[in-house]
Amino acid sequence: MIPFNKPFLSGREMEYIQKSISMGKISGNGFYTQKCQQFFEENYHFAQCLLTTSCTDALEMSAILVQIQPGDEVIVPSFTFVSTANAFVLRGAKIIFADSQPHHPNIDPEEIIKLVSPRTKAIIVVHYSGVACPMDEIMEIAKQHNLLVIEDAAHAIDSYYKNKPLGGIGHFASFSFHETKNIISGEGGMLVVNDARFTNRSEIIWEKGTNRTAFFKGEVNKYNWVDIGSSFLPSELTSAFLFAQLENLKKIQTKRKILWLKYFDRLKDLSENGIFDLPSLPSYATNNGHLFYMVCQSSEIRDSLIRYLRQDNIYATFHYLPLHLSPFYKQIHGARKLPRSEYFSDRIIRLPFYYELSDDDQNQIIEKIHLFYNQNRKG
Ligand SMILES: *Cc1c(COP(=O)(O)O)cnc(C)c1O
Repeated sequence: MIPFNKPFLSGREMEYIQKSISMGKISGNGFYTQKCQQFFEENYHFAQCLLTTSCTDALEMSAILVQIQPGDEVIVPSFTFVSTANAFVLRGAKIIFADSQPHHPNIDPEEIIKLVSPRTKAIIVVHYSGVACPMDEIMEIAKQHNLLVIEDAAHAIDSYYKNKPLGGIGHFASFSFHETKNIISGEGGMLVVNDARFTNRSEIIWEKGTNRTAFFKGEVNKYNWVDIGSSFLPSELTSAFLFAQLENLKKIQTKRKILWLKYFDRLKDLSENGIFDLPSLPSYATNNGHLFYMVCQSSEIRDSLIRYLRQDNIYATFHYLPLHLSPFYKQIHGARKLPRSEYFSDRIIRLPFYYELSDDDQNQIIEKIHLFYNQNRKG
């Protein structure tokens, strides 16, 4: 059996968890939480990093920081995970869904321009499969209309836009360490705050609406309830696990990029016949080996390829369903069409992709895809 995903343990996770237990502090914001945050601040020069229990939580924090009021509009790609939109709906925002680019699932800045209104508060971008959105254009639109930009960087660890690390460009960014991502802690995430106007308030919201962080830094002599907030901190057990992974970031990224390139190189000849598309990489973006997808010619072919691989116990899968057509939001969204979001949703297949995917298994997957298309061509 070749699963779609398999969580990778880098080796010292248990050791660090034990160490955190023996240090006598296993709640949040202790030794390992700070080690992880420093890792990102030092390696990517993010201004402020706060570990959270998930990327969803980091997005919810950013929605609070943006001070969404009921009726405010937030522009969100339709082709994304529910949390990208849900975090803002929870604060009363109306989601204005934007379409993908013609040849890439990422949000199209041309579409964003058409959707900005006097009620717009923020633009959320998702760097799909770790490939950067055109951030210069998006930041320029935001500047012209006085909007805040949040990068949903759940896929985008260690990936770049014009040599700038993703997560360091928007006013805020959120990362995920869910077990399906490159670097994992079971559940886990991180909020990045790049705009110093929000630094103090982000710590308060993180600590249940109290100024507890300022208290620990010795800035106030008691801590009190000063704002809204929630319990967004992960426990030290989670952070200890995460730190063991971060120490192996280079090794994990190197391996994942090798796997990605092998799929790409070995499927290229087939795709040149135009029977499917391989991921395109704009010149301003890097590939971080987050996931590997192909774009089939139709949903029927995509589904039959999934079934075909499944017969050999190879678990490939589809990806996002368009959020503007979801049972929860289609009424509110109305009839406005987003054909590219639907196009990618119908046609994308993601292949098994994980650190320990063996050479033999990957060869078998590639061979089966060749067989599938050769049989289909014969009719
Ligand atoms: C995984 C993912 C999330 C949610 O991450 P969690 O850590 O599970 O909350 C949000 N957005 C995108 C684009 C994702 O892929």
